[in-house]
Amino acid sequence: MKDKRKAYRMLGPILLLSLAAGCVNGDNAGSDSADAGKGPAPAAGAHHTHWSYEGATSPEHWAELDELFATCSTGKAQSPVNIVQDSVKASGALAPVQPEYAPSQVSIINNGHTIQVNLHNQDNRLVLEGKTYTLQQFHFHLPSEHEVDGKHARMELHLVHKSEDGALAVLGVLIMEGSENAELSKLWAMLPKEESEAAVPVEGVFDLNKLLPSDLHSFRYQGSLTTPPCTEGVQWIVLEQPVQWSEEQIGKFAAIFPHDNRPVQALGTREIAADQ
Ligand SMILES: [Zn+2]
Repeated sequence: MKDKRKAYRMLGPILLLSLAAGCVNGDNAGSDSADAGKGPAPAAGAHHTHWSYEGATSPEHWAELDELFATCSTGKAQSPVNIVQDSVKASGALAPVQPEYAPSQVSIINNGHTIQVNLHNQDNRLVLEGKTYTLQQFHFHLPSEHEVDGKHARMELHLVHKSEDGALAVLGVLIMEGSENAELSKLWAMLPKEESEAAVPVEGVFDLNKLLPSDLHSFRYQGSLTTPPCTEGVQWIVLEQPVQWSEEQIGKFAAIFPHDNRPVQALGTREIAADQ
């Protein structure tokens, strides 16, 4: 308790800044968390700590901002990482993922960290080694968070899935500049430029499959949320084949979030596997 008060005092100027910047979302608004933005409001007295990709609240400071964010610096299995293709281990035991995504009703929100799309239905599934994960939300980073052989893609899509026992699996899709993605235009027509507390319903249904490449071979490794509180135990699946978006589609996101990527973290003793 004492330490907490001390932490609050130290954070005084930062909290004031965050209020000034209109950080309206709760501490569950972390981009990679499974929170779909539909839960109850935080209990009275619950604090939320402002974090960002810039200045005093940028990734290198996340662990100092809140004791709940300690893993962001002490963790040994953090994400994202640089995927060095020469050191990836091919695994005959892993088959390409087969997401079971149905046309879905969605809503879109600017949560102050990214653009997030919430699913209104709970029937988009991903089965990994016999375990079923349900898609909770998806969101975007610019540039990509994962690197391949030291290079960023223009952007990265994260589809966040959660199992019944609370385990997380995130499907990452790298985005390069090229032809327009027509399905994405349905979402981008509704792109919320300002941060808000309420998600805006998108008219009609959205086909999630059209955000994926044709080839679903992937890199797999054990990592973390790439946003505070940087919780570990996340199964990462980064698709090898990127998708294409037009320069205009990338530009529309960049106009709102010029950069919202956490830098790559040390791989340590972890290995990255590739399915066959
Ligand atoms: Zn993410």
